[in-house]
Formats: sequence, structure tokens, C-alpha cells
Amino acid sequence: MPSPEDALQVSRTAYEEHARTCRQCHFDMAPCAVSKHLLRAYNNARRAQARSNTAVH
Ligand SMILES: [Zn+2]
Repeated sequence: MPSPEDALQVSRTAYEEHARTCRQCHFDMAPCAVSKHLLRAYNNARRAQARSNTAVH
């Protein structure tokens, strides 16, 4: 199972790669459906990591 850090890296890379290469995002100057999906996954991963960082026991 990937750690929150790994999940964050993976989702961020996927999002950045999409933003760089997606024709539709560039053409419309607005995120396409895939981009929104990837951004949401990235935000979720970021939240998950923040939670794991602040989890003090
Ligand atoms: Zn796109």
C-alpha cells in the first residue's frame, strides 16, 4: 500500500503531466473533465497527507 506521500507524488505528477500535454485544456484555457478528476484526486491525496502529518498520538 502506498504511503500518503507516494500517493501525493503520483497524483501530482499525473495532474501536471496532463496539464502539460492535454490539448483540450490548452485549447479551452479551462480544465477538461480529466483535468478536474486528476485535480480532485490530487486534492484528496494532499488532504490525506496533511491528516497523516498532523496525526499525533
Ligand atoms: Zn485536459
